[in-house]
Amino acid sequence: MKWEENVRKVTPYVPGEQPGQSGVVKLNTNECPYPPAPGVRKKAENFDYDRLRLYPDTEAGKLADALCKYYHIRREQLFIGVGSDDVLAMSFLTFFNSGKPVLFPDITYSFYDVWAELFGIPYETKKLDEEFRIVKEDYMGENGGIVIPNPNAPTGVLESVGNIEEIIAANPDSVVIIDEAYVDFGGESCLKLIDKYENLLVVQTFSKSRAMAGLRIGFAMGSPKLIRYLKDVKFSFNSYTMNMLSIELGVEAVTDEDYFRDTVKKIVATRERVKKELSEMGFTFPDSMGNFIFASHREVPAKKIFEELKKRGIYVRYWDKPRIDNYLRITVGTDAQMDLLLDNLRELTR
Ligand code: PMP
Repeated sequence: MKWEENVRKVTPYVPGEQPGQSGVVKLNTNECPYPPAPGVRKKAENFDYDRLRLYPDTEAGKLADALCKYYHIRREQLFIGVGSDDVLAMSFLTFFNSGKPVLFPDITYSFYDVWAELFGIPYETKKLDEEFRIVKEDYMGENGGIVIPNPNAPTGVLESVGNIEEIIAANPDSVVIIDEAYVDFGGESCLKLIDKYENLLVVQTFSKSRAMAGLRIGFAMGSPKLIRYLKDVKFSFNSYTMNMLSIELGVEAVTDEDYFRDTVKKIVATRERVKKELSEMGFTFPDSMGNFIFASHREVPAKKIFEELKKRGIYVRYWDKPRIDNYLRITVGTDAQMDLLLDNLRELTR
């Protein structure tokens, strides 16, 4: 069959499992264990469904205004998309068009190479050092763009803004994307650098710290020039990606600052407690600044623990990939969920 030769063939990204049955302890996709801000629910309950006849605002204006106010930026410095996956995919398509390889770490978010393959962008991965840190000199040669998640996923390792700035400063001819999906859990944002570097794009999401993975909201902040190029591509693809409900509920999540801070504080406190308990059990891990811990046990293989936990209804993430095949990525859940996990781990590693 000839047509099949002309199909664009891709190996898709594999997201973490979303188990159908209830009662599962889900610590495998870095979702927030707490509900979104109370205003989100109120707004959803009072939403006027008649309005769904109409197309949504292509600029997501209300949400854009709320984000600009929160981050002290201007509308022309902000791009909003359907989760940061959408924002990142659009950014790859827009900015990585030189034919030179785009650089990112060898251990990182496993969607980057999928987008590169999909869009036919050449790429090169740079090896993290033994402690899973970025070797900044690796990002200072010729390249077609750079993507760095900070904190990195799945390691949780945070780089200083100083180190990241050195990389940006060394690359005036490429767009540098900093993926800050997890920055709210203890990292420092590179947002403060967007006025200084026209080629810097900072990407964030509502999926983790704002407890809204299901609504799909992500955004990018950068120079008006970068944002304009990004919007040109997006509006050549699909103008109406941000749906009405996401826009309105998103506003509620951004404006309740106290709830946001409280949620993040609880998750960080749980993370630090779990780190201590995991250490006592013989686990080692990089010092995560995300809402997850990337842990390896000194005796019991990660794969075995992963499978055994799953049988017991506790889902964590495991990759059978070089360098990380003895690690589990454990999302920080509620204290009760983590206590259950820790009890089971104690049993499995005894
Ligand atoms: N970047 C990183 C590093 C992530 O781990 C994730 C979550 N899978 C995303 C981006 C995408 O998140 P979302 O599309 O839900 O904003």
